Amino acid sequence: MEVRLPSRFNGLSLPLHPLQFVVIGVLIFFSLNWFCVNVPNLPIAWQPAGHTVMAIVLLLHLVTYSIGTIINPADDFILHKEKKGASASMDRSVHKHAIENDFCHLCESSVKTGSKHCYTCNKCVEGFDHHCIWLNNCVGQKNYRTFIVCLSSGLLGSAILLAVNLMQFIAYYTDANTGNILLPYALLLKSSVETTSSSTLLTTAAPQAQFMMFFRPVPFEAFLFMTFFMVILSFIAMFLIGHLLGLHIFLAIKGRTTYQHIVYKRTIEAEAAERKQTDLEMQQDIYDQTSTSTGCWKDSLSCKKGKVYPHKADSSDNNTLPPV
Ligand SMILES: [Zn+2]
Ligand SMILES: [Zn+2]
Repeated sequence: MEVRLPSRFNGLSLPLHPLQFVVIGVLIFFSLNWFCVNVPNLPIAWQPAGHTVMAIVLLLHLVTYSIGTIINPADDFILHKEKKGASASMDRSVHKHAIENDFCHLCESSVKTGSKHCYTCNKCVEGFDHHCIWLNNCVGQKNYRTFIVCLSSGLLGSAILLAVNLMQFIAYYTDANTGNILLPYALLLKSSVETTSSSTLLTTAAPQAQFMMFFRPVPFEAFLFMTFFMVILSFIAMFLIGHLLGLHIFLAIKGRTTYQHIVYKRTIEAEAAERKQTDLEMQQDIYDQTSTSTGCWKDSLSCKKGKVYPHKADSSDNNTLPPV
């Protein structure tokens, strides 16, 4: 009896990947920090732009992340075939690869050129690039552009977070006399001027700048800690996303998919290993011939001077390999 295994439909098909929850958690944390910590402490005139710019970037990122996850990137032939799922096994003695001559022996269907069988999703994906663990879905021709926009918006959002958190952290130490960057300093300076010009000065304690988090006043240490923490987190996010986006820009210039790039690298490594093995065998042959013709022995001074590797003709000596 034929056994067929189900194929995954998209990134929401079970099992979900833990990294999907990491992405959602990071997005929520970054958004809360931006809208409830960073922006409320920016100058009043900057706040509308702060809200608008990040809202657009965040929306773009959420939409493209959702599309990249929800879309089914399967080959059109697979979508329209009658037998759903893929065969549980394939005779490797007959078929070396799952896809041969644009026919997948696991899906048991014709597929388009450029389609590859993803063993995680258990289906053929059109214009296969790679299986993305962050989306828990394959990235192929049908969702590659949204994947790139998702990465670009993520990089832009992380860069804005890094720049503003770093600016606010530094401004805590440098902006107290001007109040150009941090609203609490600007408000403190304004109230100082008003208090000084007033004839009813009654207070004795020096007023403090009042930093805000989640629309409540907090000690300055909390604000300082959060901005420093966000500098580190946003730098890590920017580095990871930037590295991935950089790789895809490089691949676009080279005209390769990620899959083709991995195959290309493996081929280069295999060829290099083969060349190394051939060189070793050639050195061994030369060494064997030279030592046989000269009859050199292990401790022979003339052999060392003649740059012939030490060798003992006796077959009981196994330590005969030359240095490489
Ligand atoms: Zn297939
Ligand atoms: Zn996949």
